[in-house]
Amino acid sequence: MPKFRTLDDAKVKGKRALVRVDLNVPVQDGKVSDATRIERVAGTITELADKGAKVVLLAHFGRPKGKPDAEQSLKPIAEATAQVLGRTVGFASDCVGPDAVRAVAAMKDGDILLLENTRFHAGEEKNDAEFAKKLAECGDLFVNDAFSAAHRAHASTEGLAHLLPAYAGRTMQAELDALEKGLGNPKRPVLAIVGGAKVSTKIDLLSNLVAKVDGLVIGGGMANTFLAAQGVNVGKSLCEHDLAGTAKEIMAAAKKSGCEIVLPVDGVVAREFKAGAASEVVPVDNVPADAMILDVGPRSIEAVKAWIAKADTLVWNGPLGAFEIEPFDKATMAAAKFAAEETKAGRLVSVAGGGDTVAALNQAGVADDFTYVSTAGGAFLEWMEGKELPGVAALAK
Ligand code: AMP
Repeated sequence: MPKFRTLDDAKVKGKRALVRVDLNVPVQDGKVSDATRIERVAGTITELADKGAKVVLLAHFGRPKGKPDAEQSLKPIAEATAQVLGRTVGFASDCVGPDAVRAVAAMKDGDILLLENTRFHAGEEKNDAEFAKKLAECGDLFVNDAFSAAHRAHASTEGLAHLLPAYAGRTMQAELDALEKGLGNPKRPVLAIVGGAKVSTKIDLLSNLVAKVDGLVIGGGMANTFLAAQGVNVGKSLCEHDLAGTAKEIMAAAKKSGCEIVLPVDGVVAREFKAGAASEVVPVDNVPADAMILDVGPRSIEAVKAWIAKADTLVWNGPLGAFEIEPFDKATMAAAKFAAEETKAGRLVSVAGGGDTVAALNQAGVADDFTYVSTAGGAFLEWMEGKELPGVAALAK
């Protein structure tokens, strides 16, 4: 990963810092119901304000399709941000043009101002050069603290970085440092755990990982596709039979690059996909024709734990089973708890991300014990897929 400038490199006193943040928080009845994303960027905002910058926040909210839409205004989020920061946060009714310019001109050093939703302008998602220039009129420097939006080349995430001196904010910096430890320059052996429902949504991910990691545990519904490709009868399990060829190609690529693929040897099967359904453990070559595999079995869990114990680095995306429903949560919970213990003991660097994975780690009560848990769904996956993130590339020194 190229080196990027951080706030340590920036002289901000008296300057207008345009700071791209992720404030796309859930709102119910006009109130922010989960302020986690605001809390994550609070450190960058207060650091800049305390250093005497005029902090001008840029963010998107919802999908207003390039036109103003009162329902998707950031105004209530300005109030929620003020509450989290315990400071006054001003609001301007546009992110470019006279309203924005006037509001920014009235700021004093240390003030914080949120500009209206960048997606109220079509130029944002098109990364239009003229629109980016208009945004740049309100700043002397650009700080990007929105890793979760970095996979999109938009004016406020990518275009601006070419017009103003650009820096990674503290949240972006923490995310990039963690990802570097996970796959960029990891301590080996590196183990990846990939689970979830389908192979079709994770082909790029699996193909990239087999070339980079030493071990790859495949669990969840997607393991069935790999087992079926090897001639195993998986009964009524979720399985993409048409992807048998892709599964074989991935296994061949793994062999070539010296990556050991770990597939389940036993599974927890049931006839119904519902909580408390009658279930039994069977070897994968003995799945009843009318049953489906909904979790990996105890012998497989032991194999996963043995690999985690052997690894110095773990990257994880996707649950090992249908973890939302008991008793099919056991493998995911056991692996999560074991990885957390290894991390706490200083024996493992553990990086995990993706919506369901974060939910699973929270369910296991271990999200805080991992080295890093990324809440950036799409951006985290694209990073795991080995793709260049335009918002990150634009910050390179
Ligand atoms: P993904 O979004 O691809 O990470 O998939 C996550 C979903 O996969 C979760 O909702 C799990 O319930 C589901 N899942 C995991 N293992 C299985 C399985 N063996 N059969 C069916 N669904 C599964």
